[in-house]
Amino acid sequence: MLKDEDRIFTNIYGMDERTLAGARRHGHWDGTGNIIKKGRDWIIDEMKASGLRGRGGAGFPTGLKWSFMPKESDGRPHYLVVNADESEPGTCKDREIMRHDPHTLIEGCLIAAFAMQAHVSYIYLRGEYIREREALQAAIDEAYDAGLLGKNAAGSGWDFDLYLHHGAGAYICGEETALLESLEGRKGMPRMKPPFPAGAGLYGCPTTVNNVESIAVVPTILRRGASWFSGFGRPNNAGTKLFAISGHVNNPCVVEEAMSISFEELIDKHCGGIRGGWDNLKAVIPGGSSVPLLPADIAKEAIMDFDWLREQRSGLGTAAVIVMDQSTDVIKAIWRLSKFYKHESCGQCTPCREGTGWMMRVMDRLVKGEAQPEEIDMLLDVTKQVEGHTICALGDAAAWPIQGLIRHFRDEIEDRIKHKRVSAVAAE
Ligand code: SF4
Repeated sequence: MLKDEDRIFTNIYGMDERTLAGARRHGHWDGTGNIIKKGRDWIIDEMKASGLRGRGGAGFPTGLKWSFMPKESDGRPHYLVVNADESEPGTCKDREIMRHDPHTLIEGCLIAAFAMQAHVSYIYLRGEYIREREALQAAIDEAYDAGLLGKNAAGSGWDFDLYLHHGAGAYICGEETALLESLEGRKGMPRMKPPFPAGAGLYGCPTTVNNVESIAVVPTILRRGASWFSGFGRPNNAGTKLFAISGHVNNPCVVEEAMSISFEELIDKHCGGIRGGWDNLKAVIPGGSSVPLLPADIAKEAIMDFDWLREQRSGLGTAAVIVMDQSTDVIKAIWRLSKFYKHESCGQCTPCREGTGWMMRVMDRLVKGEAQPEEIDMLLDVTKQVEGHTICALGDAAAWPIQGLIRHFRDEIEDRIKHKRVSAVAAE
């Protein structure tokens, strides 16, 4: 189990004040100016050496992403945009950072922005996060008053302004280019790539979009050293990570743990075990609603990191772990996700616009057992035609949960169809 002294988010449960004084007591804003004075190359090299992979779901190496920004400005400003649009069902970790540990994020914004030569950063906040906006804005105001933001921020010699932008509650604005469109005042619709944001992002200028947690861990990594951070987890899966565990466990929680912790330890140590005991476990969605679920026998052996879960044809995603016990109608659970993705599709590309609705309607009938057995393979085929054929990853996100269901619970789907037929015959 991760030791308390190795936790980055030491006020994640709001047991102490979230003020600047509280943050300083927990070691934040300590020598920030001196870190910046070590220079852009040192910061990016340390971030690369730390092995941090983006915490927003894709797991792309953070230091490498930063290095894609132009080294020198061609006259256009550079921007850092923080994706705080956390809207994936099951995911609620960034919320805790912004509520209770907001200064970790603000300090991280300053350092990361400097590393990318950005004088301005925007935090794009999910529409429903009203209290989080209030907490974050209060912390930003405090940081300005203390000289940690603004001209010569934190005595670093770097001028830096940080703004909050409140979204209107659309899931698709969590996709980085849709987020940029929304920030520019347009409808949140993903852009075709290339160009990538590092070349032409916000207002056509070089931009990096990072997740809240990815930015909030930066100051502590740089203070404690890349080797400290990379010492946690298996190779290529470094660091500590916030896990958000919900569903049928005794104590759902958000907890910081070392990467590559076993699923069993995560649940037993932090969640008081599975509701009704381990034999009552049915399935687990290990990384937020868009990744394929795992049945109990695989989940019990799971190592919670990017690579192990990918080998099982699932993913760590945002590390939002949704636990389902034997009382769950797993077909209905996945149908609910299909309904969500259908609702959130921006409608811009045909496979997603038409496919999400089509998949949801077939799922609707599978829940009731009112389908032909051949439709299971037809549905699987349609998910493959949506996957990888859309502008953004929402198409994949809608396809993968259904693929996971058919891969692991085909028997249950077939049984329901048979049962429905037998009942219908008996009723005649
Ligand atoms: Fe919009 Fe869906 Fe296409 Fe993404 S995949 S751009 S959400 S229609």
